[in-house]
Amino acid sequence: MFARETGKASMNRNLENASAPRSNGGVGTVSDKEVEQAFRTVLKWIGEDPDRDGLRETPHRLRRAYREYFAGYDEDPALVLRKTFSEVEGYDEMIVLRGVTFESHCEHHVAPIVGRAWVGYLPDKRVVGISKLARVVEIFSKRLQIQERLTAQIANTIEEVLNPRGTAVVVKAAHHCMISRGVHKRGADLVTSRMLGVFRDNAMSRAEFLALVNAEKTE
Ligand SMILES: [Zn+2]
Repeated sequence: MFARETGKASMNRNLENASAPRSNGGVGTVSDKEVEQAFRTVLKWIGEDPDRDGLRETPHRLRRAYREYFAGYDEDPALVLRKTFSEVEGYDEMIVLRGVTFESHCEHHVAPIVGRAWVGYLPDKRVVGISKLARVVEIFSKRLQIQERLTAQIANTIEEVLNPRGTAVVVKAAHHCMISRGVHKRGADLVTSRMLGVFRDNAMSRAEFLALVNAEKTE
């Protein structure tokens, strides 16, 4: 019997522009060696001996892991979406990619945010390969995030690049910063959504999308 948080973020706040230039800022200004030294310092600070056998390679492994967690700074999601198909035999119904898994990290504690995203749009001439939608989720999640901004960035990018009749994104995720620290609550997930175009203006379109979000998956 876990509490289920379904606080729908309205996200009218001024969120970072989804098509902002790649924030690749740190690369090149901090050397690999410096980063590993910093991780060594943290290991010492928690009371460990960074020179013992099991830990000797840990700063190196941590650096590589961080590269992977934050690989999204090196990529431009808008560029990924620019390859569109315009010949779709007049297909003009909703396209929804459901339950895309992602792992991100909160910008407050660098703790994992693990969840799924439902990404839908109603095309207007331009359709994109479905794997590209998953890539957009991945690129934005491989950055320091808050869930509200992640949700908005995915939706805004699709809206700006594909210029569809509407874009809808729902994200459900568990936040490790409230599981393993802080209030120590397991089993709660946070639900955020961003509805643009017809999904914001038309209750029927929105309901149709949300029914697909809540329906059983195919496998
Ligand atoms: Zn946090």
